[in-house]
Amino acid sequence: MSVFRGVVAVDGPSGSGKSTVSRRLASALGAAYLDTGAMYRAATWAVLTAGADPADPDAVMKIVESVVLEIGTDPAAPHMTVDGTSVDAPIRGGEVTAAVSAVAAVPGVRELLVSAQRTLITQATAGIVVEGRDIGTVVAPDAVLKVYLTADVSERARRRSQEHDADHEATAADLVRRDNHDSGRKADPLRRADDAVELDTTAMSIDEVVAHLLNLLGRSS
Ligand code: C5P
Repeated sequence: MSVFRGVVAVDGPSGSGKSTVSRRLASALGAAYLDTGAMYRAATWAVLTAGADPADPDAVMKIVESVVLEIGTDPAAPHMTVDGTSVDAPIRGGEVTAAVSAVAAVPGVRELLVSAQRTLITQATAGIVVEGRDIGTVVAPDAVLKVYLTADVSERARRRSQEHDADHEATAADLVRRDNHDSGRKADPLRRADDAVELDTTAMSIDEVVAHLLNLLGRSS
């Protein structure tokens, strides 16, 4: 089969299956994988580590401008560093998760990260699967395939609480809070692109979702 060279945009709310599906799809295509959420999480980690207030846009911007964020795009080994320090574990912690939507709502932060994401996409010579909230609408509007994944909030909370060994109710409340924040912000809100394929993954396995997307790309699994 010919080498895949396009961009696949995968958007959707937290717990919709984006990360697992995107990594698996990238591996199946022999493509790179870009987790843009990890970049917003790393920026948030930098803000918190510097002792700045995530609710103060000027303070946030000062920190985010001053650090070097580097992300790996190998779907088999994703990794994220801030000024050379590996932050893979702390960016998944509760503190970062609670503050990330505020940091991601700062327009200057989005400008910086969207520009870095576009550069990484240009550098991917064998195609790339990019996941986030604004990929199909802002970061890669020319993607060959745009997917918008959804799932019932209760199922999304079940997946997240299993992953993080956390309480179901608290996880559901956090998901709803973040969804509202991400959909309601002025800068690049979470929104399905008009030309995106919407897929409700509530009752689907990861294998089924990946097979469906490969099919949409004209490739069998
Ligand atoms: O996908 P993940 O849950 O890791 O994303 C963390 C947060 O980063 C989201 O809740 C959202 O606030 C922000 N984000 C964003 N735009 C993206 C990816 C993530 O605003 N493209």
